[in-house]
Amino acid sequence: MTFNSFTPPKRTLLGPGPSDISPNVLSALSRPTIGHLDPLFIGMMDEVKTMLQKAFLTSNEMTLAVSAPGSAGMETCFVNLLEPGDKVIVCRNGVFGGRMLENVERCGATAVVVDAPWGRAVSIDKVEEALKANPDVKFVAAVHAETSTGACSDIKSLCSLAKQYGCLTIVDAVTSLGGIELRVDDWGIDAIYSGSQKCLSCVPGLSPVSFSPAAVEVIKQRKTKVQSWFLDQSLVMDYWAGEGKRSYHHTAPVNGLYALHESLCQLLNEGLEQSWHRHLLMHNLLKQGLTDLGIEFIVPEDERLPQLNAVYIPSTASDAEIRTALLNDYNIEIGAGLGELAGKAWRIGLMGYGARRENITLLLGALRALL
Ligand code: PLP
Repeated sequence: MTFNSFTPPKRTLLGPGPSDISPNVLSALSRPTIGHLDPLFIGMMDEVKTMLQKAFLTSNEMTLAVSAPGSAGMETCFVNLLEPGDKVIVCRNGVFGGRMLENVERCGATAVVVDAPWGRAVSIDKVEEALKANPDVKFVAAVHAETSTGACSDIKSLCSLAKQYGCLTIVDAVTSLGGIELRVDDWGIDAIYSGSQKCLSCVPGLSPVSFSPAAVEVIKQRKTKVQSWFLDQSLVMDYWAGEGKRSYHHTAPVNGLYALHESLCQLLNEGLEQSWHRHLLMHNLLKQGLTDLGIEFIVPEDERLPQLNAVYIPSTASDAEIRTALLNDYNIEIGAGLGELAGKAWRIGLMGYGARRENITLLLGALRALL
C-alpha cells in the first residue's frame, strides 16, 4: 500500500480563521530546521519577543509566544493568575467569553458573569454594577474581538474601570492583535493572549501572550502550584529570558516560530496603525458590497469589528448550499454561525494578509452569482 502526499487546494480563506498566509510566511516555514537551543535560533526568538512587544504596544518583560494555539494562551493566563477561591468577573457576549468562564471554574475560582446579548459589546455599566456588588473581585476578564459574533468591546474603558476597583484585567486579543487598535500599556491590560492564525496571518498553533509587572507579581506570590506544568510561566520565563539564560523547557516549534517571526516583520514593516487602517478600509469596501446585495450586519455599526463581519443569511438563501458552493466552485471559505447564531449568520473574515481588495471583489462576485 502506498500513501500519497496531501496536497490541499489553494483556497481563499475569508472565514473566522485561519486566515490567508502570505507567500513570504509560507516560505519562512519551509526553511531548514535548526536546533531550538542553537545560538542563531535563540537570537531569532529574542527578535520575536521584541516584535511581539511592539505589536502589543507594551514594554512587558514577560512577553512571549506559547507553543500552542490561542486556547492555550487563554489557559496560560487563567491558570497562572487564578488560585482556588479567587473571584473573577467574566464578561460573556459570545462563545469565547463562555470559554473564559470554563477556565475560571476549572481553576477552582468563583466567576461573576456579566452577560451581554450576542452581537453586542460588553456593557461597561453592567461591569461597574458587578464590581460594586462584589468588592472582593480580583480580576476582570473580557474578549476584545468576539469572533463568534463580530462584536468589539471597549477594552480601554473596561481596564480603566477595573483599575478604579483595584482589579487586574485579562484580555482575549486572539482576533484583535494587528487588526484593530490595541494598546496593552496605555490601556493598562495586565494579561493578554492572542493567536497566530488571525490578523497576524501566520500558521495556526502559536499564542502570543504578555503579562504586566503587576500580573507577574501575582504569579510570584502564588500560594499554590500552577496545576499545568507545561503552561506554568515561572518555568517558561527562563526559556524566553534571553541574555544567555535560555535553558531547555520544551522543544520549541522551530519552523512555526520562523513563520511568526516573518509575519511580525510584515506587520511591523507595514506599520501597526497602517494595518489597523487597512482592515477598516477593507471592511468599508465589503460593507458597501454586502449592503448592495441586501445583506445586513448583526452588530450595530459602532460596535463592529472590521476583521470579522457577521451578517444575517438572506432569507432566500440556504446556508449550507451557499457555503458549499463558495468552497467547491470558488475555493472561498467563509464561516458559519456559531452557538446562538448557528444557521442564522455568516462570518466573513478580513484578517491580516486576507484583508485585500481582490479578495473582496472575488467574494462579492461569487455571492452575486450564487444568491
Ligand atoms: N478566543 C477567540 C476570540 C477566538 O476567536 C479563538 C479562536 O477562534 C480562540 C480564543 C481560541 O483560539 P484557538 O482556536 O487558536 O485555540
